[in-house]
Amino acid sequence: MEKVLNEQRQLLLNYGQKMLDDGLTTGTGGNLSIALRTENKIAITPSGIDYDKLKIDDISLIDFNGLHLEGEKPSSEWHLHLALYKMRPEINAVVHTHSRFATTLALLNEPLPACHYLIAVAGCKKIRVSPYATFGTEELAKKTVAALGDIDRCILMANHGLIAIGDNLAQAYDIALYIEEVAELYHRAKTIGEPIILSDIEMDKALLRFQSYGRK
Ligand code: 13P
Ligand code: ZN
Repeated sequence: MEKVLNEQRQLLLNYGQKMLDDGLTTGTGGNLSIALRTENKIAITPSGIDYDKLKIDDISLIDFNGLHLEGEKPSSEWHLHLALYKMRPEINAVVHTHSRFATTLALLNEPLPACHYLIAVAGCKKIRVSPYATFGTEELAKKTVAALGDIDRCILMANHGLIAIGDNLAQAYDIALYIEEVAELYHRAKTIGEPIILSDIEMDKALLRFQSYGRK
């Protein structure tokens, strides 16, 4: 168990650094977690520590009741991460960012439509917006989880940021990265014209295609 836990802790450090390198966050914004489902535990980035200063022992460990077990104080969004794991038993990782273009739309409370087929990486035909609540609250967790529903793997959080979930951390991270890219392209296209939105039929084809895309 200790070896697996250390591997997951290291993975969270690596992806925290990657969030900085890829421009998905600055300072201490956003957070990442991995569910260790057989142990009923969650490894989560700590609250308010810069990603480039994080050490392996800082990674926090909580149980499925939210009890703090090890490491630094868990991310203030632990309610949200826990609620997602409880609601979506098929997922094992959560990535939360305040990335610029996705958050720009979140400030407008505007969904990201199917302007690019890549929206389908999130398992849906558009990225919807969940209602606002104060960061780090149970209310935010409840509202976000309810808005996400059973299928979508990404949602914009009103006046806050983005959340992506996945089978594993790499997948959740890629969803956050691709959706940020599409949000940027959408913003750019909007400045020179009106982007064409793909039909439901085309998005169904893209969703189907993604089921067999890449290495399995
Ligand atoms: P933490 O540093 O507590 O994870 O908070 C960052 C954040 O994004 C809150 O929504
Ligand atoms: Zn946040």
